[in-house]
Amino acid sequence: MKVIRKAKEIQDIATQFKKQNKSIGFVPTMGYLHDGHISLIKAAGENDIVIASIFVNPLQFGPNEDYEAYPRDEERDIAKAKEAGVDYLFVPEVTDMYPNEPMVSMKITDRVDVLCGRSRPGHFDGVITVLTKLFHLVQPDRTYFGKKDAQQVAVVDALITELNFPVELVSVPTVREEDGLAKSSRNVRLTKEERANAVHLYQALREGNKLVVNGEKDPSVVISKVKHHIEHHSSGEIDYVEVLSYPALKYIQTIKGRVILAVAVQFKNARLIDNLIIEVEG
Ligand code: AMP
Repeated sequence: MKVIRKAKEIQDIATQFKKQNKSIGFVPTMGYLHDGHISLIKAAGENDIVIASIFVNPLQFGPNEDYEAYPRDEERDIAKAKEAGVDYLFVPEVTDMYPNEPMVSMKITDRVDVLCGRSRPGHFDGVITVLTKLFHLVQPDRTYFGKKDAQQVAVVDALITELNFPVELVSVPTVREEDGLAKSSRNVRLTKEERANAVHLYQALREGNKLVVNGEKDPSVVISKVKHHIEHHSSGEIDYVEVLSYPALKYIQTIKGRVILAVAVQFKNARLIDNLIIEVEG
């Protein structure tokens, strides 16, 4: 595995592989790699070349968010990426990705007035900006994203479709701890007690899912059940619990077709999210 730090260098490498008709699979991350990231890298192994990136993108953090405190461990990440099968690990400096004052600004206008988009204004504008740059550098045939960040998947789908990127979006199932907590780089920022009750995000989602499977059609009933479970089992503060159509992310009166049941809970030093995508017949 080669570690590449310069944007121009990774672009030249990708261009060479494109000329040779090699397929490129791309896994963008913010590092502090865990089994969730590893499963994306393994999925990308279906391509001739696997490129992953580690970049904590300042543009997608709000002024009061955890950009500085976001966990980082480059040495460990390099070892994990190599072991997982990455061919080229792109680890740019902020000054290399954003060398000048911006001359272009990107704004996503759909799929962001709900969930994390509503709680984190500008977050997905930062995501689509960095991904546009990364896609131009890495020139992937396929790019791999985790369903844990389901709104991100919906936003990337919109970006790729609307801007005609010749990239196939592959979404990969959420990897969980043994007790069901979705793996996340931010889990290390939970206290012992918070870690113990963070599992209730997933358990609450399962309670909600059970209602839907048993025929509940009213989103507000499902939302109440999930909120009630979290409030009674967790010290975290609920940011949102929502049921929406997926991937359009619209409010619905009746649960039918493909829907997302999603939660966000703020703990003292970590905001956790999780979701289930549910298919309802009829
Ligand atoms: P991040 O480093 O948090 O920006 O995540 C990079 C990629 O890994 C994103 O596509 C995430 O959705 C994905 N990811 C993060 N956690 C998980 C998980 N537990 N299971 C599957 N994919 C994940």
